[in-house]
Amino acid sequence: MIVVLSRGISEHDKEMVRIFLKDRGFKIREQILGEDEILGATGKAPVDLRELGLLPGVERVAATSNPYELASRETKSEDTIVTVGPVKIGGSRISMIAGPCAVESREQIMETAARVRESGAVILRGGAFKPRTSPYAFQGLGMEGLEYMKAAGEAQGMPIVTEVVSPELALQMKDLTDMFQIGARNMQNFELLKKVGSLGKPVLLKRGPSATIEEWLLSAEYLLASGTRDVVLCERGIRTFETYTRNTLDISAIPVVKALSHLPVIVDPSHAVGIRAKVSPAALAAIAAGADGLTVEVHPRPDEALSDGPQSLYPEQFERLMRDIEALAPVVGKELLRTPRPRIGIALGGKSPGEKGPAEKRGLAGAGGSAPLPVAFSGESGAFAEQALMRAFGEETPRLSAASFGAVFTAVLEGTACAGVVPVENSLAGSIHENYDLFLRFPDIAIVGELKLRIVHCLIGDEKAEMDTIKIVRSHPQGFAQCRDFLEKYPAWQLEACNDTATAVASIVREGATKVAAIAGEAAAKIHGLKVLRAGIETNPLNYTRFLIIARREGAGEAPQVPPSLGSEPPNKASLVFSVPDTPGSLFACLKILSEGGINLSKLESRPIQGQPWRYLFYVDVSIPESGGVFDRVMEELKTRTEDFRFLGAYRAPEGGSLASGAGKQT
Ligand code: PEP
Ligand code: MN
Repeated sequence: MIVVLSRGISEHDKEMVRIFLKDRGFKIREQILGEDEILGATGKAPVDLRELGLLPGVERVAATSNPYELASRETKSEDTIVTVGPVKIGGSRISMIAGPCAVESREQIMETAARVRESGAVILRGGAFKPRTSPYAFQGLGMEGLEYMKAAGEAQGMPIVTEVVSPELALQMKDLTDMFQIGARNMQNFELLKKVGSLGKPVLLKRGPSATIEEWLLSAEYLLASGTRDVVLCERGIRTFETYTRNTLDISAIPVVKALSHLPVIVDPSHAVGIRAKVSPAALAAIAAGADGLTVEVHPRPDEALSDGPQSLYPEQFERLMRDIEALAPVVGKELLRTPRPRIGIALGGKSPGEKGPAEKRGLAGAGGSAPLPVAFSGESGAFAEQALMRAFGEETPRLSAASFGAVFTAVLEGTACAGVVPVENSLAGSIHENYDLFLRFPDIAIVGELKLRIVHCLIGDEKAEMDTIKIVRSHPQGFAQCRDFLEKYPAWQLEACNDTATAVASIVREGATKVAAIAGEAAAKIHGLKVLRAGIETNPLNYTRFLIIARREGAGEAPQVPPSLGSEPPNKASLVFSVPDTPGSLFACLKILSEGGINLSKLESRPIQGQPWRYLFYVDVSIPESGGVFDRVMEELKTRTEDFRFLGAYRAPEGGSLASGAGKQT
C-alpha cells in the first residue's frame, strides 16, 4: 500500500500517519518520489483505506496490485523526468546517448565524442569496465578509461554514462561519472543495485537478457528503495529462440512499461540486434513505439574496435539516424533534445593585441576572456536585423552574418555568438512564424531583450537601372508583403524571394543586372553601392518590425546570461508558449488566470503543433507587474492548467514601444 502525503504536511501530522500504520502492524518505508513524499506500507492487517485517507496531511492512498511500488504508475501518475547534468530524459523529449562500446584510448573516445556530439547526441556512453562473455576478451581500460571519458565529455559539454560492475567500484567511480549503467548481466545483482541506488546518482538500468518485465521493474524498485530518484529503464533485447539477430528487440515492452511505470524508457538497438545494418531500422521503430531516447554504439573505425565493432555505427550512419529521428519525433508528439555545446572563442580582426574591443568592454568576451564573441543576425550586411543589432549592442560590436534564422539559433547555442537578433513580427505583415517555431526546436535558447525598428523600404537597383527597365524584383517575402500596394502598380514584375533583403541587394551587385531591383533598406543600398530608385514604398509609413534578442541558457531550465549592454533594469515583459487540453473552456481558464492576476496580455498567437494535426500551441506575451511575486504565482498557476508550458524568457521591453528607424535616423 502506498500513502502519498500532502506537500507541506506538518511533522506532527506525519507522525500521526506513522502511528496509525504501526498500530495496525504495518512496516513503513519512507521515500521521496519526484516532488512527493511517500510512505510504502507492507502488512497483512485489514485496514480501511478511507479511514487512512481522511487523516490530516494524507493526499492519497492506493492499494498497489504490483510487487513494485515506487516504480509503479499507480503510485505516481505523471512521467518522471530524469536529470543528468544539463540533460533531461523523459516527458516530451527524445534524448540521445551515443559513443563506443568500450573506451579504447584517449584519442578514440575524444574523436568519437566529437563526432556524436556534432550529430546531436547529448550524453556520451562508453564502457571502462567491460563484463565480457569470454574471460579472454578485452576487459576495458578501467579507471584510466573513465578518466579519458570524463575529459571527452567535458570537452564536448556532454555528461557521461558508464557501466559499473561491482559495489566497490561504484564508490571509486562516483565522482567521475554522471550516470551509472547497470548492465544486462548485472540486472539482478541485488547487492550492486543497493549500493548504486544508495549513491543517489542517476542510473541507466538495462533489462536482463532473460528478465521478465516484472523482474526488470523489481530491479528498478531496488534502486529507488535504496535512495536514488533517477532511474531510466533500457530495453536492449532479450534471448529468444531466434538466432539471426544477437537478441530479439522487445518493442512491445516499451508501451507496456510506459503504462506500468512512470520511469523513462530508452532503447539500445545496438545490443538488441547486434548487426550494424539493422541498428537504425530498430532504432526508428523504438522511437515510433514511444521510447524516450536511445543509446547507440558508434565507432569512428568499427573494423578496428576492440569490442562490438560489427554492431557499431559509422559516425555518418549515426548522423543520418539523428536526422531521421528529428523527422520522426513530431509524429509521436516529441522533440529531439538539443543541449548547448561549450563555447569556442573565435578571433576577430580589427583590433591590436591587448586592446579591448567594445564587446569585450561590455563583458561579452569569448572563452578565456580573450576574443570578443560576435552577435549573430540572419542575412548579409545591410539587413534590417543588422541595423537592429547595432541599435541594441552598439555599432562597433562584432557581428556574425548567418545564412538563415536557424543558423542564428545554432550559432548562439553552440557558442560561436554570444547573442542573436531575429525578427518575430511586423506591424503590417504579421508574424515571422519560422522564428516562433525555432524556439521550440531550441529549448536552451531564451529571449533576453526586444527592440522595435521602423522599417523604411526602398526599391534599389543598379546605377543604370530605371523604373521601366525593371523586370524582376527580389526581396524577403516580408518585404513584398510590406510593400504590397506599391507592387500592385507594377503587375508585370516578377517577384523572387530571397533569404533576407540585403541578400537581394547583394545579388544585383554580383550579377550586374539592370533588369533586377531589390526591396530593402537604404543602408543595404549604401553598403553595396547601389542606387535608390524609390524610397518609402512600404504600404503604410507606420511600419515596424519587432526583433528579439536571444541568448542561451547555461543549463537546462536556467536563466540565460544577459549581455550587459542590454542594461540591468528588471524585466517588464515575458513570452511563453503552451498548449491546453482539448476541452471546452481550457484556453479561457488560462486567460482568466492572467486576468485575475492583473497581468496584461499584449499578444496571443496560435501555431499548429507539428505532427499533431488540428492541435495548437499558444504564444503569449505578457507584462510583468512591478511586484514580481504576483507574476511568479500566476505562472505557477498557469502551469497547472496547461500541457506543454515553456517560459521563453523575461526581458526589458522599451517603454511605450520606443522605436528606432531602419533608415538610420532615430525617431
Ligand atoms: C553496453 O551497453 O556496453 C553493454 C555491455 O550492454 P548490455 O549490458 O546490454 O549487454
Ligand atoms: Mn557493447
